[in-house]
Amino acid sequence: MKIDILGTDFESFSFSDEILSAIKAMGFENPTEIQDKTIPAILEGKDVLARADTGSGKTAAFVLPLLDNLSNQNVYSKIGRTQRFNATERVASNCVQIIVLVPTRELAIQVADVFSELAKNIQPTLKCLSVYGGVKINPQMQALRGGVDVLVSTPGRLLNLADQNAIKFNQVKALVIDEVDRLMKGDFQEEIERIGKLLPNKRQNLMFTATFPESITALVRNVMTAPEIINIDEFEDELEIEQRAITVNHHQKNDLLAYLIRENDWRQVLIFCSAKRTCDNLVKKLEKREIEAVAMHSNKEQSVRIAALKNFKAGKTHILVATDVASRGIDIDQLPCVINYDLPRSPNDYVHRVGRTGRAGEKGLVISLISHHEYQHFSVIEKRNSIQLEREEIVGFEVDAVAPPMPKKSPKVKKVKRTKKQKGSLKREQETTRKTIDHYDQKSNDVESLESTANAHIWGNLKKK
Ligand code: ADP
Ligand code: MG
Repeated sequence: MKIDILGTDFESFSFSDEILSAIKAMGFENPTEIQDKTIPAILEGKDVLARADTGSGKTAAFVLPLLDNLSNQNVYSKIGRTQRFNATERVASNCVQIIVLVPTRELAIQVADVFSELAKNIQPTLKCLSVYGGVKINPQMQALRGGVDVLVSTPGRLLNLADQNAIKFNQVKALVIDEVDRLMKGDFQEEIERIGKLLPNKRQNLMFTATFPESITALVRNVMTAPEIINIDEFEDELEIEQRAITVNHHQKNDLLAYLIRENDWRQVLIFCSAKRTCDNLVKKLEKREIEAVAMHSNKEQSVRIAALKNFKAGKTHILVATDVASRGIDIDQLPCVINYDLPRSPNDYVHRVGRTGRAGEKGLVISLISHHEYQHFSVIEKRNSIQLEREEIVGFEVDAVAPPMPKKSPKVKKVKRTKKQKGSLKREQETTRKTIDHYDQKSNDVESLESTANAHIWGNLKKK
């Protein structure tokens, strides 16, 4: 990402001094390209559909103009710039002015933090709140009682709050859908449609994404009114993220991973697995090899998930092993390395995983460990994302020419009469077979999820067209 290629500055948007000082405190010198293109359109009140690469500053691209609109339009235009809005101008109880929908709880917290950070100098204070599932709803209901200016939520929890009459939508001015490709799909899509029906028809709609499947274009257009479509395309050679693919026998992945972590001096590593169980197992396997790691996935308690990410963001944890729950939107400052322990389900998720590193123009590295059963799926990922990576091997972990055989399920044994001694040795043999099968069942589960992935509906990539 080129942060300052346009040479424009934040002053050119006529933001209030409160906002300009908060931008400065964040250390932003110039707007990124997506910010430069979207901020004027949002300030004008247009609907916007924006696509730009991961880590290109999409959050501030909607946060800044929305905050400015909140503090200017509602306040100054009505009662004059010198007078400040009084109690009657504020959001009514249980009402909300801006709703931001995101796919994960951690992203809700992160986006609400960006709102709070950039709104910190605005007086009187704007109330920004994040709500999400996995925690008690009552404190969230209480927090909504006094009205909230900006509410960042996961779709499910927003509907729960609506069902409980904890939230009124009549003051909603804008709806933002971040990671819109994820939220316009599957169960989320139904929830978004239900939410859409609750909101006033007259509102500003803003949608942001890094990957944009054309299949949802029509859907998005149905929701939006004459949207301004902004697509920031980046040239391959501008990308600062190095991608590598290392082939390895499946049973040697743990040793290779430990070797790579030891050999390289990475400050932090984010490791992605496709299954929750694989994350937990991998943490144990790494610990056996005297490498400390923390797992994060949706089976963990919410407080544990939040703590895991917080510690990782703060640099207190060096290795985080996560499912794709951490692949969307999460912003980790200067994360040097992402490792795909196994491959993501969809080619688009590969892009999102890659996007956790190399943010805000930093350099980044992504390594995918691929074994025989993943070769074909990785080729699909490459094709869909218009990349072609050389297959590397690491000395000492060379891959077998043919996939090591997966053991078959235990064969049917004919009942034969055996002596006591024969029975004893058979029992021992069966025990060994059971252990091996458990071991491979686990792996074939992973294989299964990957194969279904390969067959799953694969999103196109607007960016690469
Ligand atoms: P995206 O949503 O596009 O993936 P984010 O909004 O999370 O990206 O921003 C990525 C990183 O870039 C964040 O750490 C953010 O603080 C930083 N950033 C955003 N805008 C700017 C800017 N104008 N100048 C410098 N850094 C920025
Ligand atoms: Mg984002």
